[in-house]
Amino acid sequence: MTYSYATHASCPKCKTTYSIEEIQQLCSCGSPLLIKYDLHKLKKNWDRDKLGSRTNSLWRYHELLPIKEEKNIVTQGEGMTPLLHLEKLGERLDLSHLYMKDEGIIPTGSFKARGAAVGISKAKELGIQKLAMPTNGNAGAAWAMYATKAGIETTIVMPLDAPLVTRKESVFAGADVILVNGLISDAGKIVKNLVEEKGYYDASTLKEPYRIEGKKTMGLELLEQLNWQTPDVILYPTGGGVGLIGIYKALQELYELGWIEGSMPRLVAVQAEGCSPIVKAWQENKMESTFWEDSKTNAFGINVPKAIGDFLVLEAIYESNGCAISVSEENIQSLQREIATLEGAFICPEGAATFVAAKKLREEGWIGGDEKVICLNTGLGIKYADLISEEPLTILEPSEH
Ligand SMILES: *Cc1c(COP(=O)(O)O)cnc(C)c1O
Ligand SMILES: [Zn+2]
Repeated sequence: MTYSYATHASCPKCKTTYSIEEIQQLCSCGSPLLIKYDLHKLKKNWDRDKLGSRTNSLWRYHELLPIKEEKNIVTQGEGMTPLLHLEKLGERLDLSHLYMKDEGIIPTGSFKARGAAVGISKAKELGIQKLAMPTNGNAGAAWAMYATKAGIETTIVMPLDAPLVTRKESVFAGADVILVNGLISDAGKIVKNLVEEKGYYDASTLKEPYRIEGKKTMGLELLEQLNWQTPDVILYPTGGGVGLIGIYKALQELYELGWIEGSMPRLVAVQAEGCSPIVKAWQENKMESTFWEDSKTNAFGINVPKAIGDFLVLEAIYESNGCAISVSEENIQSLQREIATLEGAFICPEGAATFVAAKKLREEGWIGGDEKVICLNTGLGIKYADLISEEPLTILEPSEH
């Protein structure tokens, strides 16, 4: 029994290939690397219908993940998050098949746990002892927790105004936390220096090729939950864009395996108006984005002024006939409240952004009323509780009742 069908890493730009038995970071040309699998062999040896008896976590897809030996897996039971039909909100938005894949219900409260589980498991397999990474909060918290479990030391660099709870989670997990009075791009520069000076493994987004494999499992699960029929539209809150690239990669692999039917879903990158480099590039029909100056949004996870994998995000949008769209802070906040009052779900601002986008695209006619639409809620609203106003609030003194 082959545990993993991963064969090598490959550069999407210059096509150079690399061994996955050794530590790899970026390609020598500067591009992120993508992991390749022997799908031909997997297709012969394994079948999607055998998945039913597997563990209820993302490790049910271990053949399509890069860890060679089961003993190296570091898990907190992540994955197989619910796919919910939102009938009330759907009715309001005139979308009869509106679904939410709810990533809030996962260890550490954000989908970053997927990237951390697979990234840390592979780091363990490669014998890595120390790593460093920049983060807007959730990735740092997840990687710190999983690294601790694996016995790997971490240095996390995050902006001073990242959600406080994510900073506390990282400290609590025993990570070395460095705060920077700036953006994730500034944190990235500090990590680059640390990596050069101290020889740490660089776990920055897409600078190691395994985080994306973890995020890819959102796509695998989604298709299994939809009984292998592709939906029409998938909306994703896009920062570094790894989740979107991952979902696209999952779809391509599933087509190649012959496991899914239906045409490629249109992939939509959703960004905040205060930070929308991918939207700008898409509007200008470009293959790469330019640095977004003075970026600002309360949806911290998508406050990424320039993503290293921007060309892959744009390719996924163009190839799937998707689009990129930006939404306002006010609309994000009001939708966050609307979904709580209508559906009883306290989702994160990044997730709420995808519903605002679905609403706009329905109004513009880009999405049809009967199309199957999937919004990714990437984390728990509870993590951002301090952003929520609680008005109206009644406070009584004990003597008053
Ligand atoms: C990191 C993050 C995102 C963006 O993820 P990418 O895959 O890097 O684009 C979205 N939402 C939340 C809650 C996040 O933490
Ligand atoms: Zn290359």
